Order: sequence, then C-alpha cells, then structure tokens
Amino acid sequence: MRDRIIDLVFPPQCGGCGRKGAGVCESCLPPGVTIARRLRGLRVRALAPYTVCVRRAIHALKDGRRDVAVALGERLADHLAPGTIVVPVPTTQARRRLRGFDGVVAIASHAAARADASVLEALQCTSAGHQRGKSRAQRLASVGRFTCSEVVAGCEVVLLDDVCTTGTTFQDCAAALRAAGARVEEALAIALVG
Ligand SMILES: [Zn+2]
Repeated sequence: MRDRIIDLVFPPQCGGCGRKGAGVCESCLPPGVTIARRLRGLRVRALAPYTVCVRRAIHALKDGRRDVAVALGERLADHLAPGTIVVPVPTTQARRRLRGFDGVVAIASHAAARADASVLEALQCTSAGHQRGKSRAQRLASVGRFTCSEVVAGCEVVLLDDVCTTGTTFQDCAAALRAAGARVEEALAIALVG
C-alpha cells in the first residue's frame, strides 16, 4: 500500500532517461547487446557502451535505486551460467557506509538469484584511496589495491563491476583472487568505456 502511494506521488521513472516505468528502459539499455574486450588474461563482456543514459542509470543505482539494481541484475543474468560464482568488485567501506547500499553487490545478488548462480564477496579494498578523480595514468600505476579474504583456492569465479574503463580494476581484482588460488578468466560489467 505504502509503495502504491509512493508510486502515485512519484511515478517510477527509467533510471537512464526519466521516461515512465521502473528500472532501465530498453532504449537506454537495448536487449541482446553485448560488447567484449580482451585484456591480458581476462575476457571482459559488458551490456552496453557507456552512453549518457547508461551513465545516468549507474548513478541512479549508486544513489540507491533498487529497481535499477533489479533491472540490471536481470539483464546480467542472461550472461551467467548456473553455478557461476560471482565476485563483486568492492567499493571502499566509507563509500558503502555513506550510501548504505552497494550497487554492484545488489546487481550481483539479483543476477545470481535469477541465474541460479552465487555471490561471494571475497574482495576488500586494501587502502582507503579510490579511483574517482584520478587520471588514467594514475589508475594504470595503482596495483595491489585489493585483498582476498575468502577461501577461493580451486574455484573458478567471474568478476562483476558497474563500469569498466581501463580494465585495471578488473586486473587488480583478478590478481588478488589468483594469488589466493582462484581461477579468473572472465569479467562482466554493465558498461564499457571507450
Ligand atoms: Zn530509459
């Protein structure tokens, strides 16, 4: 009932373009589109290029829009085989506390539930420094930012993040997981930049 009243006062809107309707509409995130990039030792697949609408949808997710997390999770589920172990790329604890919500973990949970896969929050940020505002050169220089805290030896896992820019974050995450004995060959993102 409360949700219905909220819907009447604030009709649900696409997180990308603001059109009526919850989640993310099909013109912002066309179905069936996947783009791929080969990084050293890692195959990255994404649902879309980083368009203005996709960027807005990801900001809406980071602002705590759970309907956007559900919509993105449903779309990602098509790319997860049953039994896959999904490891979300972590945000720093401070940012997570600030928002009370981790968008990437939320997407992972919805996708895994739909695809009969599972989520393992195996990684933490080693330092408090995060990527926003850093130049491309600074990003490429940063390594060893992640720590693996779970027993993953012998497991094959798939990384998940919202946006893949240079791929350095995925590679650093993969390095931490591999050091702990996991096999990592694939990473998924909502959007791929460039
Ligand atoms: Zn839209």
